Amino acid sequence: MADDCLFCKIVERAVPSDIVYEDDTLLAFNDISPQAPTHVLIIPKTHIATVNDLTDSEAELIGKMALCGQSLACARGIDEGGYRLILNCNALGGQTVFHVHLHLLGGRQLRGLG
Ligand code: AMP
Ligand code: ZN
Repeated sequence: MADDCLFCKIVERAVPSDIVYEDDTLLAFNDISPQAPTHVLIIPKTHIATVNDLTDSEAELIGKMALCGQSLACARGIDEGGYRLILNCNALGGQTVFHVHLHLLGGRQLRGLG
């Protein structure tokens, strides 16, 4: 755990959150400022600051994060209609919390990124 990391504090329950899924390696909770009817953040329990810090040893972990997003989308019935999974990296990528997190967004028509 990184002392000054908000999402590590959420993992430790030092900061409250609306948790929707948890297992040994992952935590998923509702975004505090949702941009869509479903807006969940899926994070590894271990502190990894950015996508740039990922290595081969996290390949399975990242796969599990994507499958967690798929599973939550299925459970909410938004899988067939469609949804979006996003990893933002560093300032120009729009990252504001420096603990890797996968956004699951869905439940409304999402606009193109271009
Ligand atoms: P990013 O801009 O990709 O780093 O995303 C960070 C996300 O964390 C934003 O969508 C914020 O709304 C969300 N966020 C910030 N603080 C909290 C919190 N305490 N609980 C849940 N989500 C949060
Ligand atoms: Zn952290």
